[in-house]
Amino acid sequence: MNVLVANLGSTSFKYRLFDMSEAGASMLTSGGFERVSDYTACIEKMLEDLVAEGHLGSADELDAVGFKTVLGKDLTGCVDADDRVLDALEGFKEVAPAHNPAYAEGIRCFQQRCPGVRRVALFETAFYQWVEAAAANYAIPSAWRDLGIRRYGFHGASHKFIAERTAELMEREDVAERVRQLYVQGPGDFNGAPLRVISCHLGGSSSVTGIHNGLAIGTSMGFSPQSGLPQNNRVGDLDAMAIPYACKMLGITVDEAEAQLTKQSGLLGLSGVSNDARDIRDAALAGNADAQLANDALIDSIRHWAGSFFFKMGGAEVISFTAGIGENDATLRAAVCANLQELGVIIDPAANAAVRGGKEGVISAANSRIKVVVIPANEELVIAREVFRHVAVGDALS
Ligand code: ADP
Repeated sequence: MNVLVANLGSTSFKYRLFDMSEAGASMLTSGGFERVSDYTACIEKMLEDLVAEGHLGSADELDAVGFKTVLGKDLTGCVDADDRVLDALEGFKEVAPAHNPAYAEGIRCFQQRCPGVRRVALFETAFYQWVEAAAANYAIPSAWRDLGIRRYGFHGASHKFIAERTAELMEREDVAERVRQLYVQGPGDFNGAPLRVISCHLGGSSSVTGIHNGLAIGTSMGFSPQSGLPQNNRVGDLDAMAIPYACKMLGITVDEAEAQLTKQSGLLGLSGVSNDARDIRDAALAGNADAQLANDALIDSIRHWAGSFFFKMGGAEVISFTAGIGENDATLRAAVCANLQELGVIIDPAANAAVRGGKEGVISAANSRIKVVVIPANEELVIAREVFRHVAVGDALS
């Protein structure tokens, strides 16, 4: 079965074509466009290229297209990308303005261009469907909650992949299989020994998720991807009262405050240097105190959330790092895990320094009770796998 993964960023369009089977995935080709304003034109060009390069006889030979949709109103999971999905994206376009309209356009384009090709949406919120109400709700009036304001959580595809991969690395096939079947069969009952994972996705956008026996129990991101850890240029957690206070004192509107919190905050806002963790680290090493503060605030926030999940799960067997910063910045990983010997975390400095550049590896010492691992993120592959599972199950039922 061939599966095309369409990744519609706020300014880019990337795609990968996979050949999927029960035995695994192989990537047939990939490509993309930068500084995109017209997704429909990009999709047309991509389909032309796929045919011209001989990957497809025509666009209709695609078996399925997968979309990494972000946030839907009253809808989540891995589902057919039909009108229900379009309505759900429309319903929350104010909360995810950079993503929802782009995905809606992409889905509509495939709907018109090749209506016979199966379209599947994997929501970034899907992994958090089973988080308990006590952890998912904000303490706000019911009229606010009725609007759908609650903790959703994001990076679901990435954290779910970590749930599956850590279970494989820990030789816990029972948990790995539970994770594989999660979106097609639901969680079911689980009676095995506990497997508790603290998953740190640290990239341009970052989050920490607690995973108990393959299920997310909560995550650092809440209602929107602006929450949780300080992000590249987005604020992360902020006391709600700061917004009306800043609006009054600075004489700015709510829209201006939103623009500042979503574009000029986070690591960029704190450091005043860049939204890129490498530039910030270099500036900090050169003595820039604000850059040092940004770096330290990121580490502090990761520890804050990791500590929260450690406490809620009553311990952990695995701490995992993924994405650009998590996969490459050994100094940051060591700082996140510093002084945790009493909790059972001991990093092996040589092993830690050796894992970077998209490599998988264990970075904890042999006598560390908790295993600390680095696992490369591969979002497109994750989406292709979920789409394959979704379509294969649907076909098996029909
Ligand atoms: P996105 O969320 O945009 O997909 P990535 O997962 O690619 O982001 O992560 C991007 C972040 O990773 C950037 O802040 C970048 O500086 C950081 N990064 C990439 N390589 C390194 C490195 N060698 N050391 C530290 N940070 C790195």
